Amino acid sequence: MPQIALRQTVRERLASGWLFPAPHKVWAGKGTGHVCVVCGTTITPSEVENEVDGPVTVWTHLPCYSIWREESKPYDGADGTDRIDLGDLRQIVRERFANGTLPVLPHDKSWTGRGVSDLCGVCSSPIFAAESSQEVIGAPRAHTHLVCYRAWLLESIASRQVDERPSAEPHADDS
Ligand SMILES: [Zn+2]
Ligand SMILES: [Zn+2]
Repeated sequence: MPQIALRQTVRERLASGWLFPAPHKVWAGKGTGHVCVVCGTTITPSEVENEVDGPVTVWTHLPCYSIWREESKPYDGADGTDRIDLGDLRQIVRERFANGTLPVLPHDKSWTGRGVSDLCGVCSSPIFAAESSQEVIGAPRAHTHLVCYRAWLLESIASRQVDERPSAEPHADDS
């Protein structure tokens, strides 16, 4: 992919929350066959591989990381995963809980994987192969974007707390 197109892709993904802002700290090593989260191609042993620990661990080529890092600068100083429309996503999740199109997660068990060609179980947008996705164990729609999964999980926890609240007030009668 030409650099300019790659930069544009990174910018769009950051804006939509499909890619978290690149942290400053990364681990560099020789390529071990991981797929670059930025350009979607395999990092070969002859290339430098950066291991990036964000909300999840991803891998990138060195030049791809540079682009990602540069495009992440506007997000510095903010918790990127929180500022990217998480509120909107949580609203979607709440509505879908209410109309029964999304189940409340019974647990927080999930896998982070490479994007699969599937529709996101939360926002219904496609997940692209070059993106990381979250595979939810035991849920009917198993794949979501990372940020969508986070919204889903947060709302599930909130919803479970409401359900678990006893209807009677146990400490009402202290006299
Ligand atoms: Zn790359
Ligand atoms: Zn999504």
